[in-house]
Amino acid sequence: MAYPLSPATLEWQRKARDYAERELIPYEEHAELNEGLLPPEVAARHKALALELGLSRLDAPVEHGGLGLPKLDQVVIWEQLGRVTNALCWAVSEAHDWMFQACTPGQLERYVRPMMDGRRCECYAITEAQAGSDPGAIATTARPEGDHYVVNGEKWFVTSANKADFVFLQAVVPRGTGEAEHALFFVDIDAPGVEMVDNPRFGHTFSSHHPTYRFTGVRIPAANRIGRPGDGMSYTRSWFRRERLMIAARCCGAAARLIEMGAEFAKARVVSGRPIADYQLIQAMLADSLAELWGARLMTYEAAAMQDRGEDLSVVHTHCSMAKLTASEMANRVADRVVQIFGGRGYMRSNAAQRFYRELRVDRIWEGTSEIQRLIVARSLLKRGVDGLIG
Ligand SMILES: Cc1cc2nc3c(=O)[nH]c(=O)nc-3n(C[C@H](O)[C@H](O)[C@H](O)COP(=O)(O)OP(=O)(O)OC[C@H]3O[C@@H](n4cnc5c(N)ncnc54)[C@H](O)[C@@H]3O)c2cc1C
Repeated sequence: MAYPLSPATLEWQRKARDYAERELIPYEEHAELNEGLLPPEVAARHKALALELGLSRLDAPVEHGGLGLPKLDQVVIWEQLGRVTNALCWAVSEAHDWMFQACTPGQLERYVRPMMDGRRCECYAITEAQAGSDPGAIATTARPEGDHYVVNGEKWFVTSANKADFVFLQAVVPRGTGEAEHALFFVDIDAPGVEMVDNPRFGHTFSSHHPTYRFTGVRIPAANRIGRPGDGMSYTRSWFRRERLMIAARCCGAAARLIEMGAEFAKARVVSGRPIADYQLIQAMLADSLAELWGARLMTYEAAAMQDRGEDLSVVHTHCSMAKLTASEMANRVADRVVQIFGGRGYMRSNAAQRFYRELRVDRIWEGTSEIQRLIVARSLLKRGVDGLIG
């Protein structure tokens, strides 16, 4: 018994699994021991294969050269890619469907299409030293000046900025009236006034870093503003929604691999004359893990399917938060248990369980911490009631 998926979705699942198992997983240990880096020819092959598979275009509309896949198919694909450690599945940038609603033809040509064919890479700069969980508190400004905006501020944790050509930057636009509004901008990373001021090390070994960037008097053309005045943070919310769903998917994939590894090891490892799989304390860890994975996976698939059915976006938004919350917390518990099942071997960096144990931790933090997901769910519950959210 498995979740009923169409033959087309199952074919995507097979292709993504094949790419993960044959191309990416064999290089995890190399990446772990080399600051996340792969030999250049291997990295180039991974990128070429990812482009050939269409991973940069899954969500882009067909009329713009994308694959326009249902969200359920995308979740199934990202679940398989989540089986890989060291972020080796981040071989290409991905264009999202909201970009085609938000961006002008010129922006699509200059920034979004080059992401789809692997020519340009993006990063997202929202978080600041004093604005993480509350992006409404950001202090970076984009002050209108003729046909330009002038950007000043500092952004933290800008994932993949070390590989990026441009930044999706969230800033506050002060108005003459003394009011202000939030807006999203394209900023070229090599524009004068853009500088990396810190590059901290984090708990995982990824070639994508999370540096701090300072923007000092950066002049960007007015044409680089994304969306219309008044759109505020709506496109940032679209981005959050998609990322939360795909994080949930990746967490499910990671948990599935962890459980498989834990079960295999438990059957083979003999302690006090018996395989540890015979011991009920070990069985309980495996059983809890599988049951929790199944619950998280169903939630994740359903959040995607709701979007495909065109259900109310506010309700979908809540479901994406529930899926991210449930799946990321679940995957962390699973990683902890599987490390435990491996005993001392679970503490070795050569063991994928050890790497997942470190890597999955951030899934409870980025794209909104678990606490923030709970607040989103609770606010929606108090507004819509149980029936309004889950029938
Ligand atoms: C590796 C990494 C990569 C990242 N990549 C990016 C990126 O590419 N782009 C980007 O813009 N950002 C990125 N981030 C930032 C990330 O989204 C933030 O770290 C996250 O949103 C939390 O913000 P904060 O770190 O400022 O924590 P804070 O907001 O300071 O929160 C601290 C603690 O307080 C809790 N808390 C806050 N408010 C409440 C509340 N109302 N009720 C209860 N508890 C609360 C939080 O849950 C957390 O436990 C990244 C972070 C990391 C670690």
